[in-house]
Formats: sequence, C-alpha cells, structure tokens
Amino acid sequence: MEYWNRHFECMERDSLKKVQGQRLRETVERVYFNVPYYRDKMQEAGIGPDSISSIDEIVKLPFTTKNDLRDNYPFGLFAVSMSEIVRLHASSGTTGKPTVVGYTRNDISTWSEVMARTLTSAGANRNDFIQIAYGYGLFTGGLGLHYGGEKIGASVIPVSGGNTNRQLQLMKDFGTTVLACTPSYALYIAEAIHESGISLGDLKLRAGVFGAEPWTENMRHEIENKLKIKAIDIYGLSEVIGPGVASECIVQDGLHINEDHFFPEIIDPETLKPLPEGSLGELVFTTITKEGLPLIRYRTRDLTRLNYSKCRCGRTLVRMDKCMGRSDDMLIIRGVNLFPSQIETLLLEMKEIKPHYRIIVDRINNLDTMELQVEIAEEFFQDRISQLQTIRSALQDKLESATGLAVKVTLVEPKTIERSEGKAQRVIDRRKY
Ligand SMILES: [Zn+2]
Repeated sequence: MEYWNRHFECMERDSLKKVQGQRLRETVERVYFNVPYYRDKMQEAGIGPDSISSIDEIVKLPFTTKNDLRDNYPFGLFAVSMSEIVRLHASSGTTGKPTVVGYTRNDISTWSEVMARTLTSAGANRNDFIQIAYGYGLFTGGLGLHYGGEKIGASVIPVSGGNTNRQLQLMKDFGTTVLACTPSYALYIAEAIHESGISLGDLKLRAGVFGAEPWTENMRHEIENKLKIKAIDIYGLSEVIGPGVASECIVQDGLHINEDHFFPEIIDPETLKPLPEGSLGELVFTTITKEGLPLIRYRTRDLTRLNYSKCRCGRTLVRMDKCMGRSDDMLIIRGVNLFPSQIETLLLEMKEIKPHYRIIVDRINNLDTMELQVEIAEEFFQDRISQLQTIRSALQDKLESATGLAVKVTLVEPKTIERSEGKAQRVIDRRKY
C-alpha cells in the first residue's frame, strides 16, 4: 500500500488529537487577532484564544455559514493582508454574490500536499499520465488536481473541461492512465469512446478521480464497467480548500478526511448540537492550518456520517460516507429528523419498487402524518393484489424500523410520479405553521 505522507495518514488517534488541538489553538488565535468578525462573535460568546486548550473544546466556538462569507464579501474574513495572498478563487453563487476564497503561499503548498495524498490513495504515482478534464479558472477543480499531479511527479495534461473529441485524441495519443473530471463528464466521455469506435484496448486508462457533484453507487458501477477503470470518489469545497478535503482509497469504503488540516464534526442541523459517533447529520469543518481564509466550524450543509475505525488500507484518518443530500432538505416529523435521502436509500434496496417517490406531510388533529407514494417496478405491477400488499407492508416495516415513524405507504403505477429535469419535488408539506 502506498501513502504520500504515512506520518499523518496513519497516525495514532491520541497523537493526532494533540496535533489537532495545537493547530486549533493557533487558528483561534489567528482569527481572534486578525478577523474582526470572529473576534466579535467570540467576545459575544465570552470566549477568547485562552478558552481553547484541546480539540474537544472546539464545541465552544461559533459556527460560520455561507451567508457569513457573503456578508463579508469579498475579503472581509481574510486573516492576512492582501500582500500575502497569492491566489483568489470564487464559486458562483446560485443566488447573489459569489463566495471568494484566498490562499497564501503556504495554503497553496497545503493544497498540493492534500491533493498529492488524494492521488496517491487513488493508486497514482510518478509514472502516471493524469488528464485533468476539470475546469481551470476561478473554480478550484482544475488547479487543485494540477498541483497534486505535479507534486507526485506524474505527467499532468491540463486539458480542462469540454471539447470531448480532443479529450479522446489526447487520451489515446498520450496514453492517459488517470482521468480527473466530474462523474457525469466521465460517463459522457465513456459514451463518446464507444461511439467513436476507439477500443478500450487502444487506451491505457486504469483509474479515475471523480468529484465536485453528488453521484450514486450505480453511477460508479456504470463508469467502472464502461471504461474498465477504478472510479475513486473525491470530496472538497472551495471554502475549505477546494478538492483535497477527503478522498477514497482503493478500498473504496468511505472517504478519508485529511483531518490534520480540516477537522470534521457532525451536528444536528436543527439544534446545532454535535451528534454521537456514527450518526447521520450535517458535516462541519474547521480549517486548522489555513492562513488566508481560516474558517471556524463551517457548516457545509452536506449530510453524511463519520467512521473512525481503521481502514483496510492502513490509514487511520476518519472516513466519511458519500454525501447523502443536503441538510436544507431535512424534515421534522413528530420531533424526528428525517432526510429524504434516507428514504431513497431504503427504496434502492428493494427491487420491487423504483426510487421515484413523493413524501406528503400533513398535520391532522395536531399530529404529523406522513405518506410515501412510490412507484412499483414495471415487472411487479401485474402481480396479484395480495402480492402488492406484501410489498407494501415490507416497505412500511423497513421505514418504521429505520426512522421510528409510522408511514403510510401507497404504491402507484409505474411512471406516474412526475419526473423533473432539475431538482425533483420530492416533498409536499401541507402543515400550517
Ligand atoms: Zn482506506
């Protein structure tokens, strides 16, 4: 097994916690003395740099949200003077102003380090040809992969996104071994290869590092089968550093978080309280080595769980599950937090139904009710009513034991639930508040 930085990637938890505590203290000091926004918030909470003596005390610190970044647009949360900033990136907001992030020279070096770990854990090394089909520019995808690729000594091909014919030509002529892009573009490229008549035997592709958008296990299998490669999931967000926050190893059982740089927590998005180990909740990051834009308890809105057990690859770095949706989608039904993605996961386990569903929430006699309408699979639709009843009660039991809620399940005919090009309207909440 190859590691880029065995010292940190395989560190014992006690030693790691000491490193994290020390780095957190330094970060809190940095923001307290250099970022008025954080100083005000900490003074409001009655805490200062001396209040933090270990990583466990992180729970005393205030949260940061995307709105805080917008309110301090463009450089208000930077902790160094602009003369020390060597790079700016920005993500286009769907509403209003973009989010701006700044890097010092050391931050760029940290970024290269975590990306070198990412590529190494995906099985890449100096002998690889890495074709980077992520966009270059204000988006962090292209340059992040670029730094990591150069750092491990691979031959980097900075082709950027689009122009699929040229992607195929370079892939064939240069002998690309690792493809880096979004998973949807990887599928597009796979289909283009099949249509172009190029045989996979003419290519040397053996792995792909895919991220920057959510993707399912089904999509992974499709990419792996069509391209005959290992498809590795990577995770990052520009606010934290860009790609390089977390990545799968070749075991493909969760994404290792580079927690000596980015400290993760899982919180209840409603109460903001930390949740017990292994719970599904909102992922929060504190950057503990960043200089330009350190962020304290940044709420990602991504839903996942953390697994602290040692991975078969030998790394001790905590693993996060593939993200299961956004905390903004959370429903509270009779005091129980419920995410549509939890239901979707259960539906995917049953072959008799399709993951096309609608959740209808209502309040009748002051009691929340929930109905799940779900499509029966075409091949089971002709079954006798008694069989449909069996499917229905099996699903009802599954839902009840997973969520603790009694759910009314209604099976509907195939293809009757409205399809949507963009974000599907999964939830209809009729409760009056
Ligand atoms: Zn691993």
